[in-house]
Amino acid sequence: MELIVLGASAAYPYKGKACSGYLIKTKKINLLLDCGTGVLSNLFRWLNPMDLNAIVITHLHTDHFLDIYPLRYFLQYDSIPSFPLKVLAPSGASDFICQLISKKGREQFLELFAFLSINEKIKFEIGHLKLYFHPVPHLVPTFGLRVEGERKLAYSADCSYHPSLVNLARGADMFICEATLQQKDASLQIGHLTARQAGEIAQQAKAKKLLLTHIWPAYDPLISKAEAQEAFDGEVILAEENRRYEV
Ligand SMILES: [Zn+2]
Repeated sequence: MELIVLGASAAYPYKGKACSGYLIKTKKINLLLDCGTGVLSNLFRWLNPMDLNAIVITHLHTDHFLDIYPLRYFLQYDSIPSFPLKVLAPSGASDFICQLISKKGREQFLELFAFLSINEKIKFEIGHLKLYFHPVPHLVPTFGLRVEGERKLAYSADCSYHPSLVNLARGADMFICEATLQQKDASLQIGHLTARQAGEIAQQAKAKKLLLTHIWPAYDPLISKAEAQEAFDGEVILAEENRRYEV
């Protein structure tokens, strides 16, 4: 199982970068986790989006879903999708996203994308991959998830600290964890983790590798890495756009 980072910026895409997007690739499956600003441009470097098996949208913040709008135009005009592309997202996502689309356009949009509501009670299977969703504390309804196949990958989405995050990441070969904040922000209650908290969760969960992502664009990521590494004995990796990682 491979992970390709398509976007790792928090909130806005920093120069030459993109907001949240992660491509999970196995021999048979291409799964996109989040589709933030700039992700589509990077996705084209790796595959034809027609070859995606599904998209997961963890929550309805623009830095996690905005590029579904241009993806729609590619699918509509420059591809021949034989079936709608599955979009696994919190309930209400299609209505929310369709607010920016005309009435006629909505019908076309919903022919291209089949929205399925996620929650913690339903296990989804995308080919041989099993997807388990965990609600996480954030500013809007948000789900972290585990992807289990030949390897186990966990993704925090955006969240503040909660002990259940250890269950989400437990035993993961790779834990993709947001680290929007640094130690100097530790007293802020704004729905995000510090890098040190990401390290603490990875340590308690006995994750093998920690991929730090969603670092605030104006921050020095090397400070975030050092702060996470203080709490985690395993390998800490900084997510970088258009790099491929073995899970
Ligand atoms: Zn968010």
